[in-house]
Amino acid sequence: MDKAVLEGAVKTILTEIGENPAREGLAKTPERVAKAFEALTIGYAQDPAQVLGDAMFDSASSQMVLVRGVEFYSLCEHHLMPFFGAAHVAYIPNGKVVGLSKIPRMIDVFARRLQIQERMTDQIADAIMSAVKPKGVAVVINARHLCMEMRGVQKRGAETTTSALRGVFLKDIKTREEFTGFLGLGMRV
Ligand code: ZN
Repeated sequence: MDKAVLEGAVKTILTEIGENPAREGLAKTPERVAKAFEALTIGYAQDPAQVLGDAMFDSASSQMVLVRGVEFYSLCEHHLMPFFGAAHVAYIPNGKVVGLSKIPRMIDVFARRLQIQERMTDQIADAIMSAVKPKGVAVVINARHLCMEMRGVQKRGAETTTSALRGVFLKDIKTREEFTGFLGLGMRV
């Protein structure tokens, strides 16, 4: 990433919206925005398979593992505006489990890229499927999109829910019901 080019682009935006990029409050804004974008898109430089592979353990358990309410912040790729919420991830082990703290870290790898919620949901499910090779994975994400709330339809507080089911969660209704029961959603996914 060329910081000077990025800062120049932010300066152009400031000028084009009718601002004066030289005034005191804005003088350091291009630098700050460039830094913020570097942090908010750090996921491009990270490998989700490596994050998960770092802490994999043998396990005889075949009971559902559920990590719920993982907060995340991402940027929508259509407007570069934040969307944020909580991700819930469940899987049924098949000989291996992954360190619990790795799941939130892996979610951040995908959140810190330009995203759409649907793809991020799929990517999280697929990353666990390929790294942990469980019997199945379920991912549900609830999020608020500022591009919907601040502009466009301006629906404040509306939540978007997406889900991705793999393996036994697709095939077995009981497993799916156990998952939604844990989430307390009472929803059909
Ligand atoms: Zn958007």
